[in-house]
Amino acid sequence: MRIVLHTCCGPCSIYPLGVLRNMGMEVMGYFYRHNIHPFTECMKREATLRDYADQMNLKMIWQKGYELEEFLRAVTFREQNRCRYCYHARLKASALVAKKGKFDGFSTTLLYSKFQNHALITEIGQDLAKQYGLKFIYHDFREGWKQGIETSKALGMYRQQYCGCIYSEKDRYYAKNEE
Ligand code: SF4
Repeated sequence: MRIVLHTCCGPCSIYPLGVLRNMGMEVMGYFYRHNIHPFTECMKREATLRDYADQMNLKMIWQKGYELEEFLRAVTFREQNRCRYCYHARLKASALVAKKGKFDGFSTTLLYSKFQNHALITEIGQDLAKQYGLKFIYHDFREGWKQGIETSKALGMYRQQYCGCIYSEKDRYYAKNEE
């Protein structure tokens, strides 16, 4: 089976890539940019993933552009629900890449993170799969959380400290610094 794997960053790609390849899947990575702020952070994550993809012989499709304004407009006044929009945008883009490239399905490294809404990602992935006539490859990659962290540290990878958007950066640092 040939699939597109939405890869949010290098460290989160380690475990899912191993599992999917062990399942016999041919994996094409896809990096989506618009939810990673500011742009310098996005470039850091992209560079880390580029190095890792080269190392692992992982072919990648790199999204062009940086639609920061569109992302912010889409979540303004809905900040508390922003992750639903964000997951949907990233998974829809991945499904469209899979459809265009005649892949069998798609998956996402978001299913690796203990900090993401796993059930919501799965629901959105399955809905999009139905809509586009693709398979959503579900696996609970959280089982490899520790293993992925240890490997990324051993490889000296850049490990980001917040999810991606400016709101998540505030959640990570503001409250802590105000205490
Ligand atoms: S917290 Fe993460 S998943 Fe939620 S909107 Fe921000 S970047 Fe997207």
